[in-house]
Amino acid sequence: MTIATTFNDATVGAALDQAIALDLLKTGSFIDGDWVETSGGATFPVLDPATLEVLCHVADHGAVQAEAAVRAAENALAGWKVTPPRQRAALLEAWCALVERHKEALAEILTLENGKPLAESLAEIAYGNSYIKWYAEEAKRIEGAILPSLVPEAQAIVTREPVGVVAAITPWNFPSAMLARKVAPALAAGCTIVVKPSDETPLSALALTELAARAGIPAGVINVVIGKDAPAIGGVFTGSDRVRKVSFTGSTSVGKLLLAQCAGTVKKASMELGGNAPFIVFDDADLDKAIDGLMVCKYRNAGQVCTATNRVLVQRGVYEKFAEAFAKRAEALKVGHGLNQCELGPLINDASLSKVQNLVDSAVADGARVLCGGTTAEDMPKHYLPTVMTGITAEMQITGTEVFGPVAALIPFETEEEAIAIANSTEYGLASYFYTQDSARMWRVKDALEFGMVGVNTCALGNEIAPFGGVKESGIGREGGREGIEEYLESKYALMAP
Ligand code: NAP
Repeated sequence: MTIATTFNDATVGAALDQAIALDLLKTGSFIDGDWVETSGGATFPVLDPATLEVLCHVADHGAVQAEAAVRAAENALAGWKVTPPRQRAALLEAWCALVERHKEALAEILTLENGKPLAESLAEIAYGNSYIKWYAEEAKRIEGAILPSLVPEAQAIVTREPVGVVAAITPWNFPSAMLARKVAPALAAGCTIVVKPSDETPLSALALTELAARAGIPAGVINVVIGKDAPAIGGVFTGSDRVRKVSFTGSTSVGKLLLAQCAGTVKKASMELGGNAPFIVFDDADLDKAIDGLMVCKYRNAGQVCTATNRVLVQRGVYEKFAEAFAKRAEALKVGHGLNQCELGPLINDASLSKVQNLVDSAVADGARVLCGGTTAEDMPKHYLPTVMTGITAEMQITGTEVFGPVAALIPFETEEEAIAIANSTEYGLASYFYTQDSARMWRVKDALEFGMVGVNTCALGNEIAPFGGVKESGIGREGGREGIEEYLESKYALMAP
C-alpha cells in the first residue's frame, strides 16, 4: 500500500490515518475471503478529486481475478443458498451494525475519493445501510404459494429460489450505497455475488466489504474485483454461464452494451441507468418550498446524481421571480473541500468538467443567460460553481443531455399540457418532480408523467422501502422495497401428482 505524504490539507491526512488505523483502507481485490494484492506490481492511483492528490495506490486487476471471483462465488453458492433465512438475516444485521459503528470513517473515505461534502457522505452511508437492514428483514419473508390444482389429487406448488451467482457493476457517484443496494438483496435472497466498483472510487466498496467479512459473511459469498480495465472484468462477468444475473448502475450507453453481452447466456438483468429529470414549478406552487427542493435536487453531490433534475420548467407567471430568488440561494452555497464543511464539492474528473463547461457554453451561444456561475471557482479549478441559467429552450443541447453537474437550466412554459409534453419528451424515464398546491393537478400530473418515480412537492424520493428505478432508457428493474428482492429470485413451479 502506498499512501501519499504530501497532502496540502492536514485534514485529509488525518482522515486517511484514521481509515488505516481502523484497517478500512483496503487496496486489493477481495476474492474467496482473502485480500488479493497486486499481480505483477500493477497498480493505479486513487485520487482526491478536489486536489488531484494521490490518496493511495490499489491493485489493477483484470480478467484473471474476475474469473477467480466468479469461481469463488459459484463454490460458495451451494452453502449460502441453503443457509437458513434467519441466519442470513443475522449476518446482514451484524454487517449493518458494523457499518453503523464505523459510519464516520466510511464517510471520510467516501468524501476523500468522491469529493462530496462530508454531511452528504454520512447521509449516503446511512442510506446504504438502510438497505442492508431492510433486506436482513426481507430475507425472512421470501414466500411461495400453493395454487388451486386443476389436476385431481395433485398439489401445485410455487417455491422461490435464488437466481444464483450475481455480478454487480457500480458507479462512482454513490460508491457505497450502490454496492449496499445490490449486495444486501442478493445475499438476502440466497445469491452469492461478484462486484466491480468504479475505478474512480474503489475504496468505499472495499471498506464495506471488509466490514461484511468481519460480520461473518462466509468466504466467497461477496467478492470484489478492482481494476482499470472495466470491459475485461465486465466481459468475464457477462460472458460467464455461471453468472445468472447482472445488476448494473451507470450510464445508459454502458448499460446497453452490458445488456447485449448478457444476451449470449440469457441472463436476468437489472439496469439502473441515466436520467433527464424534469422539475416543474407551477404558478400555484409554494415557491419557497420549490426552491428548497431544487437546491437539494440540483446541487447534491454537485449535480452528479442520476435523479438530479436536468430541466427546470417554470410557469411563465413566476418565472422571473423564481429564477432571481433561486439564483440568490445557489450563489450562496459554500464551495470547498468535502472535509471542510462545504456544501458543494468538486466534479469527479476533468472529463466531467469539460462536458459541463461545453454544455453551458453551447446554451449561451444559443441565447441562454447566466444568472450565476457558468465557470469553475477561481482558486479551486476542480469545482464548478453553482450555476443558474435562464432563457433555456427545450431544443437546446443542455436539455437533452444528462449534465451531471451543478447547472440549473430554467425553461419557461405557459400551460400544464405544455409542461407535461416537454417533461415527457426524452428517452429517459427515471425521476421527475413537480410543485403545485392544486390537489386535482397533483393527481393529474402524477399520472401523466412517464417516469418510474415522481416527487410531488418533494425531492426526497430515495429510501429502502420504495421501489427505485426507471422506465424507457433509464433502466429495467427496481431496487428497494418488496420489488428489490424479486430481482434476485426465480419462481419454481411444481405439480405434485400422487
Ligand atoms: P459508467 O461510465 O457507465 O460506469 C459505471 C460502471 O460501469 C463503472 O464501474 C465503470 O467502470 C463500468 N464500466 C464502464 N464501461 C464498462 C464496460 N464496457 N464493461 C463493463 N463495465 C464498464 O457510469 P458513471 O459515469 O460511472 O456513472 C454515472 C452514470 O450512472 C450516470 O448516467 C447516472 O445517471 C447513472 N446512475 C444511475 C443510477 C440509477 O439508479 N439509475 C444511480 C447512479 C448513477 P470504470 O468506472 O472503472 O470505468
